[in-house]
Amino acid sequence: MKREVLIMLAAVAVLAACASTTKPGVVGVQRQQLMLVSADTVEKMALVNYTQQNRDAQVAGKLVTKGAEYDRLKRVATRLQKHVTTFRDDAAQWNWQLALIDAPVINATCAPGGKITFYTGIVRQLKLTDDEIASIMGHEIAHALREHGRERVSRAYAQNAITSTALAAAPNSQAQLEAANAVAHYLYVLPNSRQNESEADAMGLELAARAGYKPEGAISVWRKMQALSQGKQPAEFTSTHPSDATRIKELTAMLPKVTPLYQVASRK
Ligand SMILES: [Zn+2]
Repeated sequence: MKREVLIMLAAVAVLAACASTTKPGVVGVQRQQLMLVSADTVEKMALVNYTQQNRDAQVAGKLVTKGAEYDRLKRVATRLQKHVTTFRDDAAQWNWQLALIDAPVINATCAPGGKITFYTGIVRQLKLTDDEIASIMGHEIAHALREHGRERVSRAYAQNAITSTALAAAPNSQAQLEAANAVAHYLYVLPNSRQNESEADAMGLELAARAGYKPEGAISVWRKMQALSQGKQPAEFTSTHPSDATRIKELTAMLPKVTPLYQVASRK
């Protein structure tokens, strides 16, 4: 039994570390974060979900892997990824991926470890410009760079909502699938904290500006989200990302910091 516990702890690599996962950039995000679960564990769980999501989409004939819409998103992703080292050096070696799912869903995410998902619904229904796509994608990438998902899973772990036994479940087992679904709840379903949102806004704004996308795209896209959230059926994205006047005010206040980066940025 004792040996099993030891193996389990080693597998999960439970650790209590308090540090900032990212460098501050010009926007100056540098809060210390409490992490109780290893990045590796969270990435593994996220990958189980991502693989399953893409497999399901493929089976349904909804996974878009070529064509104008896919190429457009891929171009934005490639340009943004060139600048992730502004915030953390190791992210240049991440296995970045992009999944485009053809569904009328207003949502976009970036899973831990750099696994981006966009739905055609968010691009089409909000009639997103490239600058606006870059702002949403930059924001989502920032959540991943900053490991906000890992922070939330750590909090769930501290509250015993997720156990080390679940996190250490054998690969491809039913138990692992269940644990991954539990983790997904903390990664994608619960609304982000205001603080995490502010951090992702700031870092996403800088990423987009450095990649040569007009930072004002962040203002216009959140206005579109705001209009959307006043509708009867709140979209997935607005339920996890409350769009309020504070967010737009904060983004507007940060424009002078990032505009010089946009002005000198390469458009490639
Ligand atoms: Zn967010």
